[in-house]
Amino acid sequence: MYQGMKKYLAGELQSIEEAGLYKKERIIITPQKADIKVNEGKQVVNFCANNYLGLSDNPRLIKAAKEAMDTHGFGMSSVRFICGTQDIHKELEKAIADYFKTDDAILYAACFDANGGLFEPLFGEEDAIISDALNHASIIDGVRLCKAKRYRYKNADMQDLERVLQEAQGDRFRIIATDGVFSMDGNVAPMDKICELAEKYDAMVMVDECHSAGVVGPTGHGVAEQFDCYGRIDIHTGTLGKAFGGAVGGFTAGPQEVIDMLRQRSRPYLFSNSIPPAVVGAGLEVFKMFKESNELHTKLMENVTYFHDKMVAAGFDIKPTQSAICAVMLYDAKLSQEYAARLLEEGIYVTGFYYPVVPKDQARIRVQLSAGHERRHLDHAINSFIKVGKELGVIK
Ligand SMILES: *Cc1c(COP(=O)(O)O)cnc(C)c1O
Repeated sequence: MYQGMKKYLAGELQSIEEAGLYKKERIIITPQKADIKVNEGKQVVNFCANNYLGLSDNPRLIKAAKEAMDTHGFGMSSVRFICGTQDIHKELEKAIADYFKTDDAILYAACFDANGGLFEPLFGEEDAIISDALNHASIIDGVRLCKAKRYRYKNADMQDLERVLQEAQGDRFRIIATDGVFSMDGNVAPMDKICELAEKYDAMVMVDECHSAGVVGPTGHGVAEQFDCYGRIDIHTGTLGKAFGGAVGGFTAGPQEVIDMLRQRSRPYLFSNSIPPAVVGAGLEVFKMFKESNELHTKLMENVTYFHDKMVAAGFDIKPTQSAICAVMLYDAKLSQEYAARLLEEGIYVTGFYYPVVPKDQARIRVQLSAGHERRHLDHAINSFIKVGKELGVIK
């Protein structure tokens, strides 16, 4: 008896469409990279992938994935603790732990699962989870699945964090949970100050490094490197789906007892399939490449600086960034959509965001830079931004 729901869903879908919030999927017919082709036949330069180090189509990773399939098969057909752990899964966990300088790491199918399965095994009713207001949906869901008391502080606002920490002093254990880089502004969480407050108020610190790992810090090792916070951040979660190759897979890195407990009790780990050998093999190759050279990170940072400086010089209002996310502020929702559509006509693929994805009257175009971009891609984007900006009266 679907009829009742059918009518209801059709109505809801229509109101999503009428509010201009309907998410349409653009079809890409090439690998993920700087120059992509969409199925309408148009070739565009891509500035909206999380492909920060340009590894999504990297030949070494493709080769490593193929080799891992040859030596270790296609699928695991099991969860880790039954018969889904291969030597390479353990090697990849070790490589991730080494990268973040933690005792150990545990793999998940995605960072969504890493965050979803992090809190419930570790925290109970008598504990407190203190969350940044702009944290990713997966942290919010992970917190919801756990019985601990929930506290929220304003984005990266240390006064507000201190207020909340004081409020939570009566609880047994406290953990501060934050994104390393916030995806809409590209701002980096002030980890040095967060760690100071954590030490003052006896709280643990957890950071989601999805947009920061491979990107921030002198050699791209994430926020602990950026703020010299090694040993002060307790838990890192992250993804293999962004800078680290862009396929799929998540992880939690942290102290031995935490990782051991997650292997015993974390539900997305216990009740979901192991990640496939191809993804694990390519993941190992990523960390091997990082050990050999830092050239991709260096190139990414050169690209960020080049783009940012040229855009500011052209008169654009750009949020300060230490990450690979550059928010070009337009404030007006309709303008952001018109601007992005015009840029696409110019061959530049970016996304315009507006309320409720960002606060009211804070509409913007988000540009995500990559080591996969060459100077010509950046110049094409900058020139198109200027051309359309003049047309639409955004710059003089
Ligand atoms: C992308 C993202 C995730 C989800 O990662 P997946 O591995 O794609 O599930 C989690 N947290 C943050 C902050 C992210 O940006």
